[in-house]
Amino acid sequence: MASTEHVGTTRSTESDDTTADRTDGDASARTGAASDDANAPTAESVLSLSGVTKAFGPETAVDDVSLEVRPGELLTFLGPSGCGKTTTLRTIAGLEEPTEGRITLGGDVVADDDSFVPPEQRDVGIVFQNFALFPHLSVRENIAFGLTDADAAESEARVDELLELVEMTDHGEKTPDQLSGGQKQRVALARSLAPEPDVLLLDEPFSNLDVRLRVEMREEVRRILKEAGVTAVSVTHDQEEALSISDRVAVMNDGNIEQVGRPESVFERPESKFVASFLGRASFLEGELRDGKVDTGVGRFDAVTLEGYDTVYDGAPVDVLVRPDDLRATPAASELADGVVTSRQYVGPSFVYRVELDSGEAVHCLHNHVEEFDLDEPVSLELTADHPLAWYPR
Ligand code: ATP
Repeated sequence: MASTEHVGTTRSTESDDTTADRTDGDASARTGAASDDANAPTAESVLSLSGVTKAFGPETAVDDVSLEVRPGELLTFLGPSGCGKTTTLRTIAGLEEPTEGRITLGGDVVADDDSFVPPEQRDVGIVFQNFALFPHLSVRENIAFGLTDADAAESEARVDELLELVEMTDHGEKTPDQLSGGQKQRVALARSLAPEPDVLLLDEPFSNLDVRLRVEMREEVRRILKEAGVTAVSVTHDQEEALSISDRVAVMNDGNIEQVGRPESVFERPESKFVASFLGRASFLEGELRDGKVDTGVGRFDAVTLEGYDTVYDGAPVDVLVRPDDLRATPAASELADGVVTSRQYVGPSFVYRVELDSGEAVHCLHNHVEEFDLDEPVSLELTADHPLAWYPR
């Protein structure tokens, strides 16, 4: 991991010990710099994972994960397929027993070396991918299902309250086959929220909805969770979903949490190349730091545009993170061009062009839909980013 370690992007909030940052292989050690990203154990954490590891035979799916989840927050595990996010969620639910580590829920240890509380005795609600509604029960009966301790009147009142929360008051008597996908999701949420769990777990909650509905329901699910005041942990591989609904995002790679923080923090200040490349349409420009300048395949620019640049890094080969909105292409004569357009993607309001540089690297640039370039057109590129760029030693 040290080879991909970020050196610059958290400098403004960190100590001045630049040497330590350069050699420190533990990215998570630095993520706590901004107070709203902090992951230190606190007395008020609703959920706490400490050194949680889950191995399946020789394969370690979750590797020494530690995390604190605060009351009322929505935290999302984000990562590529197979990175261990579902297994982490299942260990929280009690559907998997950790091989090592400790999990605390609402102040009580639910899994450690000596104890394991089964799922039905944990105060967690789960919203499954397929919503898992009972087909033969009405919406009201589905929601009331978990209210085993309530008498009939209490149960009726709670179901009314939840139907109102998820805006399904007029649909209480329907059965699931009479509901749209979005309505099923609302009922599934209401059912899981009914017993007021300490933590609500959501497993890829939008994967069963079509693309348009998915975007609409993101806002709705966030509104419902916030109005309910529940602490929630969700899992997704969809970065846009994670960034848009979450209070904090935990980016996972190969069983580890690479970075935890507010969506803006992990997107704007990714602490490893993995996090950078997983979020946004990232490209990396190979650069050489020299005399306060950085030479790249799109020209030489001032090194002060690099987040946390310091002359101590002069002479270092670096990779500079550029996303499509950081670069602008302009048609150019072949001899003056930085590269040629090799593909273009029309996405309605904008074009995303892929430009192959003379250096062999490829970058993407975002243009308004009226700015059309042809394939193979030579272009020069200008760095237009109005924010500090993240960079990594090569
Ligand atoms: P996806 O987005 O594809 O669901 P994920 O990040 O949720 O992926 P996990 O399902 O947690 O990943 O799986 C992590 C690793 O653990 C994978 O390599 C997977 O094959 C392995 N794994 C998960 N469950 C089991 C199991 N019951 N037995 C053996 N290996 C498993």
